[in-house]
Amino acid sequence: MDIAIAGAGPGGLATALMLSRAGHRVRLFERFETPRPLGSGLMLQPTGLAVLEALGLRGEIAALGARVERLIGTDARSGRVVLDVGYRPLGPDVHAVAVHRAALFNVLHDAVVAERLPIRTGFMVESLERSEGKQWLRGARGREGPFDLVVDALGSASPLKVEAKVPSRARPLPFGAIWGTVPWVDAGFRRDALMQRYRRASVMIGVLPVGRQRRDGPELAALFWSLKPESFAAVQARGIVSWRDEVLGHWPETAPHLETITDFEQMTLARYAHHTLQIPAGEGIAFIGDSAHSTSPQLGQGANMALLDAAALAAALAGAATLEAALAEYARLRRWHVRLYQILSLTLTPFYQSDGNLLPLLRDGLVSAAARVPPVPWLLASMVSGQLLNPLSALRLETKLLREVAA
Ligand SMILES: Cc1cc2nc3c(=O)[nH]c(=O)nc-3n(C[C@H](O)[C@H](O)[C@H](O)COP(=O)(O)OP(=O)(O)OC[C@H]3O[C@@H](n4cnc5c(N)ncnc54)[C@H](O)[C@@H]3O)c2cc1C
Repeated sequence: MDIAIAGAGPGGLATALMLSRAGHRVRLFERFETPRPLGSGLMLQPTGLAVLEALGLRGEIAALGARVERLIGTDARSGRVVLDVGYRPLGPDVHAVAVHRAALFNVLHDAVVAERLPIRTGFMVESLERSEGKQWLRGARGREGPFDLVVDALGSASPLKVEAKVPSRARPLPFGAIWGTVPWVDAGFRRDALMQRYRRASVMIGVLPVGRQRRDGPELAALFWSLKPESFAAVQARGIVSWRDEVLGHWPETAPHLETITDFEQMTLARYAHHTLQIPAGEGIAFIGDSAHSTSPQLGQGANMALLDAAALAAALAGAATLEAALAEYARLRRWHVRLYQILSLTLTPFYQSDGNLLPLLRDGLVSAAARVPPVPWLLASMVSGQLLNPLSALRLETKLLREVAA
């Protein structure tokens, strides 16, 4: 088939590799003149890593990123550890890999370039046009097509979402965060853990080791500070020194990181929004990644979900007799896993990002105690690793198929 992939984020790039290796003619469309990633760090869970392995890219990613085995959350005032989730209950070698977004992007983008897949840059997708069973992408400067299938990988603000069978609108979440990339510092931090500090749920600070952007580059960490997006202007007005003092007050060990942040320009404001397409498909169009479902990054699943979507779409297209059947199969393969994680993210986020006192009280008391009683550690590890409802088992056949195609 002739397939347009709109958006060159992790979802779009992975889909392009899979579908091209399966024998389809793919073309990528991206708004940036030079494709580039936005933001700082992210966690690749065992689910996302399995998809990267099927693409033959896991080794490269693992060599760049940091192996993460635990998530540790501490109450800023008492110093008490209130969250300690490890991957160990799932097996001795189960872990996540935290990476800088640029590292994930570069590995996928390099593979796309090496396979000579065409990327049309500087193309701002505005809408979809249809005629006689074919699709065209309409941009500000003309249209491109015809295509048998359009894959929408434009992220959560995609203008193509109106083409879904049951369109949905993203609902902004009250809290977002500012993210920055800082040098890795050993003192006070663990190389194998995402560490967080909380003050109730109105303050959350995180430090995530992300390895290197390039093999010869310095070791880095991502630092984030939770805030309401509308309050960022006031924070900026008070000045960088005042903000750094506030962070230091909660977490003195971040001093060496904060020294390197001299301007708010070094921090990216991320707004979070929640939406789930009931059916991630429409006539001649499939939705993957954040365009199909987006949420807060509290559970660290977004990029992994995009990679799982890419694998599921490739599998569905390989196994079905018609495009319509393939899109229905794609929706079926992802339905319950996506819904479960969307609900979990929406439910858990206020425990870490909200104004009230009750939820953080429950988090630090009841939940923290229950988290030590078997089988809860196993359950938490399964949840964080993205493996509840075992999305990979549904894709096992397909992973084998992808390997065969890749070979
Ligand atoms: C601060 C933050 C932290 C996160 N942490 C994690 C984490 O730890 N683990 C995790 O798995 N996920 C995390 N996520 C979520 C993750 O980043 C996303 O889920 C993932 O990037 C989605 O990939 P995607 O390819 O679907 O979309 P995107 O990464 O949003 O890519 C969309 C692409 O489409 C392009 N584009 C957009 N609109 C247009 C247009 N109209 N025309 C042309 N091109 C367009 C964009 O330039 C971009 O290249 C985090 C997200 C944020 C914001």
